[in-house]
Amino acid sequence: MNISSNKITFLVYNKLRKWVDFQRDKLRQQKNIALFDELRTAGICPACKGASVYHISDIPYSETFLNKWNGSVGDFYSIVPTEYLDISFPYAFCQECFLSFQSATISGFAARIENNPIINEKVLLAYEQQTQVDVTPELIKNLQSSNDNLSTIENHYRWLLGELGKIIIPGCSILDLGCNRGTFAELMRNVYPECAVWGCEINTTYATACKNRYPKINLIEEPLSEIKKHGAFDVIFCSDVIEHIWDLDGFIKCIKNNLKPSGKIMFVTPNLMCASAIKNGVNWWGYMPPHHTQLFSSSALSMLLKRNGFNMLRTTVFGDELASVFELY
Ligand SMILES: [Zn+2]
Repeated sequence: MNISSNKITFLVYNKLRKWVDFQRDKLRQQKNIALFDELRTAGICPACKGASVYHISDIPYSETFLNKWNGSVGDFYSIVPTEYLDISFPYAFCQECFLSFQSATISGFAARIENNPIINEKVLLAYEQQTQVDVTPELIKNLQSSNDNLSTIENHYRWLLGELGKIIIPGCSILDLGCNRGTFAELMRNVYPECAVWGCEINTTYATACKNRYPKINLIEEPLSEIKKHGAFDVIFCSDVIEHIWDLDGFIKCIKNNLKPSGKIMFVTPNLMCASAIKNGVNWWGYMPPHHTQLFSSSALSMLLKRNGFNMLRTTVFGDELASVFELY
C-alpha cells in the first residue's frame, strides 16, 4: 500500500467514525429526550441572550461519576436509578460570549445524587477534602507571609484572600455563599478580623461539619431567597457555586436583593478559557453534568452580570479558575 492509499484509508475511516459517533449521539438523544424536563430556551444563550449557539456534545453521566468523581462502579449501579444509567446531557456553546452550557436537564437529579448518603460519605467528601484544608494558626501565618513553599490549594486561597483584600473595607460584612465546610469563611474571619463574616450553606452534611469545625462563623442554613431578614451585605463571595445554577437570572436577582447599595459580588468558577479546558475539550474536569450546568469565560460572566445591573471591576485567573468582581450600580 502506498502513502496516498494510506491517506485515503485514513480519511474514509475518519469519516466513517464521525458518522458512527453522530448516529450514536442521535440515538442517545432520542432515548434521553423523554427524561429531560428542564430545557433552556432553544438556541438562546442563558448568559448573554445571544442567538449564535450550537450543540457541541452529549456527555454521559457515567463519565462524571466514574471518571471525574472517581466514584466506584458498584456505587454507580446502586445509586443511579435504572432509567438514568445511560443518560447523557447535551452541552451547547455560545459564540458571542464563550459560555458552554447544558441545554437540557432533569430537575432534582443533581441534588438527588449530591444528597445521597453514600455520595456524601464517600465521593463528594473525598472530592471536597482536596479543598477543605484545616484552618490552623500556622496556615494563616503562611498565607500572609511571602513563603513560596505552599501547596496548590494554599496558593489558591492566598490568591482569593488577596483579591478580596482589594475590595473590602474595615467593618464591612461579607457573606460566603455556599461556604461548604467553612474553610474559606474561617480564613476570611482570621485574615480580616475587623469584618463580620457570615456563611450560607444549605447542604446539611456540610453545614453540620462547618458548625463543628468553626463555631465562630455566623452560619445561615437557609436558601438565598430566604435570608434577607439577616440584613444586606457589603460583599458576597461565591466560590464554585454559579456553575451549578440552572436559573442564572433568578440567582443574580436573589444576590442583588441581598447586597447593600454599591455592594460587591465576587464569583470564583472554573474558567472555560484556561489552558487545560482548551486542550481537553469536553474531557476537561469542568464538564460535570448534571452538576455543572454551565462553564464560564470571563466575558460570559461579565455579560450575564451586566444584563442584571452590575459593572465588572476586575477579573484574575489562577490555575483552572477565574475570579471576577462586580459592583451593583
Ligand atoms: Zn452567550
